[in-house]
Amino acid sequence: MKTYKIALLDGDGIGPELMVEAVKVMKLVAERNNVNFELTHTPFGASAWFSHGVSFPDQTKAVCDAADAILKGPIGLSHEESKKIPVDQQPERGALLPLRRRYNTYANFRPVYLPKGLAHFSPLKAEVIGEGIDIMMIRELVGGLYFGKKETGINAQGKRYVAEVLEYDEDQIRAILKVAFETAQKRKKVLHNIHKSNVLKSSVLWNEIVEEEKKNYPDVKVEHILVDAAATYLCLKPTMFDVMVMENMFGDILSDQGGGILGSLGLMPSACIGPDKAYYEPSHGSAPDIAGKNIANPYSMIGSVAMMLEFSFGMVAESRNLWQAMQSVFAKGYSTPDLSKPGAGVKMISTSEFGDLVVSELKAMPKV
Ligand code: NAD
Repeated sequence: MKTYKIALLDGDGIGPELMVEAVKVMKLVAERNNVNFELTHTPFGASAWFSHGVSFPDQTKAVCDAADAILKGPIGLSHEESKKIPVDQQPERGALLPLRRRYNTYANFRPVYLPKGLAHFSPLKAEVIGEGIDIMMIRELVGGLYFGKKETGINAQGKRYVAEVLEYDEDQIRAILKVAFETAQKRKKVLHNIHKSNVLKSSVLWNEIVEEEKKNYPDVKVEHILVDAAATYLCLKPTMFDVMVMENMFGDILSDQGGGILGSLGLMPSACIGPDKAYYEPSHGSAPDIAGKNIANPYSMIGSVAMMLEFSFGMVAESRNLWQAMQSVFAKGYSTPDLSKPGAGVKMISTSEFGDLVVSELKAMPKV
């Protein structure tokens, strides 16, 4: 029997609740596919800072180093609570960015998917959603402003100042573009290149590399679009997009907008892929406003498991089954509270009920 070691980083806020549902599903997947998932929970984020005095403890690094894949819950605290942690140990700076840097997880896949039948979850009109939204956002994850040099101090005029550098080299840009072109080749062969070359020099270089790389993918049509215009079109005409590629900060912001057009960030899983290691996480944060209430939507976490099955373990058919199981729960009229208001025709379910229903749906499917 094949064994896969999976590091489980429960995280903060709703993270542990979502992880419980992911584990339920993984246990069933293991059973159905005759594989062994060796699951190791390990501290990460704000909770790790409070328990271990550091947000990314050495023991967690060791578990992740030894793992075949990492499944991570969201991390972070509310704005007020964050102040209890020194700035450099706050979860993003102290844990998340170091995790991405450690494994060079440069390619972040963020699917924005809503079939026509679930258009009622979206704040957009049914005619805008048409036959459904199906976008793969590809975000560069280890470069740009988030990873550039940072400096704070007092300037010559005695004023506090800050400087942060947006830095990319051509190899970093080429690497993520290759991933995007290859993904477009497997889909509709259209790639929307998101940039801001009218203002940012980084986008000028980015676009130069796009022009060079596109010669290697003659079957892919490239459409250039400014990031601000892309934000508008995501609301007005989301069906014009199939694969979108963008630098780190643009991707952070546009992918949250992606969650918005679907109806909730709870519908946003992701895969973060590096040359030797990948980790999987919901795109959203720790949602302190709803933590501990058993009302968070675990689709984002279970979807991240589906992406892990496909990308890390090559279990493509079972991954498809898992997506299908989640869609079937919604198609039967169930909804988590983030997606619908209570009312006629809505069968409102909790975090754990969603997990249980996904398990029932998957159990009912033929094994692969
Ligand atoms: P958030 O993404 O946590 O929440 C934004 C809104 O979406 C909230 O109303 C929340 O209730 C809702 N939401 C998010 N996920 C949901 C789910 N699965 N089901 C139902 N509703 C859901 O953003 P925020 O409140 O700005 O940030 C909270 C913390 O998360 C901050 O500390 C932030 O730094 C951190 N954060 C972490 C990550 C990460 O771990 N990768 C990403 C983004 C933000």
